[in-house]
Amino acid sequence: MALPSKPPLTIRLCAPRGFCAGVDRAIQIVVLALKKYGAPVYVRHEIVHNKFVVDGLRDRGAIFVKELSDIPEEHKDRPVVFSAHGVPQSVPADAAARNFFYLDATCPLVSKVHKQAMRHQRLGRHVLLIGHAGHPEVIGTMGQLEPGDVTLVETPEQVAGLKVPDPDNVGYVTQTTLSVDDTADVIAALEARFENLTPPSSESICYATTNRQEAVKQAAVGTDMFIIVGAPNSSNSMRLVEVAKRHGAKGSMLVQRASELDFDRLKDVRTLGMSAGASAPEIVVDEIIDAFRQHFDVTIDIALTAEENENFPVMRDLRETELLPS
Ligand code: SF4
Repeated sequence: MALPSKPPLTIRLCAPRGFCAGVDRAIQIVVLALKKYGAPVYVRHEIVHNKFVVDGLRDRGAIFVKELSDIPEEHKDRPVVFSAHGVPQSVPADAAARNFFYLDATCPLVSKVHKQAMRHQRLGRHVLLIGHAGHPEVIGTMGQLEPGDVTLVETPEQVAGLKVPDPDNVGYVTQTTLSVDDTADVIAALEARFENLTPPSSESICYATTNRQEAVKQAAVGTDMFIIVGAPNSSNSMRLVEVAKRHGAKGSMLVQRASELDFDRLKDVRTLGMSAGASAPEIVVDEIIDAFRQHFDVTIDIALTAEENENFPVMRDLRETELLPS
């Protein structure tokens, strides 16, 4: 008896998607530190916001801790890696005071925002940081400055109530992984209130965030559902879910692993958009596409909107380790 034919499904697969150069570098730093110094290597906070990646590194000998004080006394000689999101200045200072050997995996584009914030401060400007309260990158950027020199702004509605020492001396920077459109609204509100508002010397939202949002915008129109592969604590992944819905997808959802998919709910989908946040590995994208192939006759349509060639090298100390056999 012939098997019943599967319904057709076109997957509009965004490109670029998934890992950015900063995430790739941070993971490489942990992998190379394990190779060079052996296990365990401590990592302060999730190196990137993805459980699959964190579990994989844990299996290789990385130990994730919240704070340096969580590292046991007998392991104080082990390397400790700071995550891609960046850390307040107090963290490397504390590590140095305790004689820890640390490797800073802060993305160079986050470090650039730190420098821009410090430049505003050096030139006497009060710094407004546009971002999400509690995100590690925001904690890290605010921690480059004295508490009284920086104010977090999350929404345009907050702008009217902002209190700054001198309204003619205000500069702003932003978190790197925000919604491009929402951030433009906050900046417009700030410009309306502060006539002499100084922008950062270059765009704070990074190329990976911008490119992934643009790809989703262009692919979303006419899709029955849009899947973003990523984690709920990944800011850039959550923004992609919102962008898909706003730009024409009938529905959008965040998926961490194929096992979460409910194919009863997805059975009427014929055009599916798909992308992945900057911390989501391609292996999970493949896993999800394979799961769809079990239920549908899948055609992949690559929605290419930009080429990415960025590559952030690891620190010199680890570069020669890259060349050693595994
Ligand atoms: Fe760096 Fe952007 Fe990737 Fe964050 S999303 S790690 S800022 S490249």
